[in-house]
Formats: sequence, structure tokens, C-alpha cells
Amino acid sequence: MTRNKAFSNLKLLFIVSIILVFGTLLSAQEEGKPLILQEMSWTDVRDYLKTNDMVIIPIASTEQHGPHLPLGTDYYEATGISKLISARTGVLMAPVLLAGYSEYHSGFPGTLSLKPETMEQVLFETAEMLIKYGFRRFMFFNYHGGNNVVQSKVIHRINHTTEAIAVAIGHGSPIQKGRYQGKDEVGDEHAGIGETSLMLSLRPELVKMERAEKPKAIYSDKLQALWMLSQQYPDLLMVFDSLRGVPVETKKGGASHELYSNGIWSFSDPKKATKERGEKQVKGMADYAVKFIDTWKKAKK
Ligand SMILES: [Zn+2]
Repeated sequence: MTRNKAFSNLKLLFIVSIILVFGTLLSAQEEGKPLILQEMSWTDVRDYLKTNDMVIIPIASTEQHGPHLPLGTDYYEATGISKLISARTGVLMAPVLLAGYSEYHSGFPGTLSLKPETMEQVLFETAEMLIKYGFRRFMFFNYHGGNNVVQSKVIHRINHTTEAIAVAIGHGSPIQKGRYQGKDEVGDEHAGIGETSLMLSLRPELVKMERAEKPKAIYSDKLQALWMLSQQYPDLLMVFDSLRGVPVETKKGGASHELYSNGIWSFSDPKKATKERGEKQVKGMADYAVKFIDTWKKAKK
């Protein structure tokens, strides 16, 4: 080997090493980042579809969450947890809606709401577009209880009328087994300790803790009596639940502002919320979904 040849070999080795080191750095940098449809180009999506047909669609709401949390709380929760799941599994996420079904929260200004059939149609048409490009496995990550009925309908429609498969992996899904509730939380359903903790973990700059205060429950006599009766006969809770969380126009006394004074649905003090509790809840929900996705990836296409 001539001196020149040895030198050029050394140069080649050097260049290859640099490429390898940078390549590793680059992929390490990409790893742990979510794949968000709106942040990708069409060529990125084309390349993604060569090896993956899965997509996560977060669904949530823009609705009042008490005087201390932003209207977009559910949106930040659904997209925030979906981002973590996307980053950990490499599955693309496609946020398509800011609003959900929240009519019963409209006694508090700022709440937006879509009719269930509108929401179902938008989600279904969006799914149809994704199916056209080759997406076949849909996962809806919901973080608003009021959307569960819509989520079930969209999933049923995708499964029964298209080539794709759809399942739920967030709120309302059988894979979400933990409630992460502390012993001091009673009836903590909406904007209480649970959601305040979640937001302290996901978007702390949007939480105004100085405004967080325990609501006054203002249930009608009829609802209170029904609650008392259901303590002796728990099946009656079905009736109690069907009267709560319904639009004011139904005259059942079950709209959000007819149940609680400030929009928080809880019998506990939201000031007890902590970032640590929120982090635990975020991780818990993400863990269930990641395990599910990793296992589903192994299934035959
Ligand atoms: Zn919420």
C-alpha cells in the first residue's frame, strides 16, 4: 500500500466515522420526539406509510374548566398524552378537532360545542382521507367524558364500513385501568384535583392556582333525593347519571352551571392538586397505551 493510498483510506475512514457519529446523534435527537401530522411534509407521511399504518387521533374539548384552568384543558391533556405515546412508539398523531361535545358546559362563557352528529361526521371524513393514503389502524385518544358516545359511534362506523380498524386507547377505553385517585378525592370528575394536577404537569403556565377553590354543589332537590335513594339501591345511579351532564334546554337541572357554582365538578379541594400526581397520571395512561400499541404492532397485518 502506497503512502498516498493509506492516506486516502484513512481519509475515507474518517469521513465514514463522522457520518456514523452524526447519524447516531441525529437519530438520537429524533428519538423521543412525537410525529405530528401538521408538522410533517407530504413526503414524510409517504415515507412513514412504507413501514407503519397506525395513527393516533386525540379527541377532547374546548370547554370551561373552572376559574383556574384554561378552556383548552381537555385538548392539552389529550394532545399532551398523545405526544408522549407518539414519541415512545413512533406512531404518527393527527389532531383534527379543537372542540368536542360540551353543550352542558355552555352556561359558562367560552365553551365551544359541536353537535354529536357533526363531530362524528368530521372525525369519520378525516379518517376516510387517512384511509385513502394507506392508514389502516386507528387509535382515538379521548380526554373528555362527554365525547365517549361519539367516539363509540365513529369507531363502529370505521370498523363496519371501511377497510380500517379503529379502537379507543384513552378515556372510555377498556385498556385504561387506573384512575390514579387519592384517598382525599370525592366525586372528583371535572377540573378538580385530578385535572388540575394534570395541567400542573402538562401546561403549568396556564394554571391560576390562586383562583382554584372548592365549588358549592347546587343540585336540585330532585337530584339530591335521587342520590340519597341510590345509596340504598345503587342501580338507581343509572337514572341519576342520565340526568347529569345534559343541556339546560332539557329542563332536567343537570347542566354544569346548575350542578356546581364555579364549573368545577368535585367535592374535594382543587388546591390539593400537585404536579407529581399529574405526572403519575400522565405516565400511567401513556404506559397502558404504549404497551397496547407495542403488542398490536406484533400482530399480523
Ligand atoms: Zn376536562
